[in-house]
Amino acid sequence: MATAGHCVKCGIYRDSLHCDHIIPKVLGGSGESANIQHLCANCHQDKTREDQSAVTKALWQNPAFQAKQRAALTTPDYRAKVSAIRKAQWQDPKFRAKMSAKHKALWQDPVYRAKHTEILNAVRHKQFQDPLVREEWWVNKQAAKGKSPWTDPIYSAAWLAAFRDGERDYEWWHVRYQAEQKSEVA
Ligand SMILES: [Zn+2]
Repeated sequence: MATAGHCVKCGIYRDSLHCDHIIPKVLGGSGESANIQHLCANCHQDKTREDQSAVTKALWQNPAFQAKQRAALTTPDYRAKVSAIRKAQWQDPKFRAKMSAKHKALWQDPVYRAKHTEILNAVRHKQFQDPLVREEWWVNKQAAKGKSPWTDPIYSAAWLAAFRDGERDYEWWHVRYQAEQKSEVA
């Protein structure tokens, strides 16, 4: 049954207006005439889009929905897919140039810089609670200063592996490492 008249949003006259639920049914709107308005096709399309975003927003307020979405985002399948997409993107020099320009521009903004410096520091601080991360940082620092034997990547890697495995007796480890190296050369 076509309703002729003026669209309640834009006022245009149409022979056939669309029936629209002011509050969408999925959001609990009733089917009664008080919740029905007549819109032209254009306004109805706009309203439908608004309704969809309202429904999505409402869904995200729901803890059960949030948990489900979060679970979907943490499956190994999903993570692998995202990581493959990201990897492919970063292979593209144009994408890399675009991202780098974007970051440079963002970093010019003092508010952005302050906020993200804070986030980065928090992340670093948290990572630094991990003794292995601290050790790695220290080893890299010694290497950067040109201090032997840390300038030797094989030595550093072996030391970090020993550290990870709970080796704490530095002198003993060092003597054993030297001996192992010698026996490998010989
Ligand atoms: Zn309209």
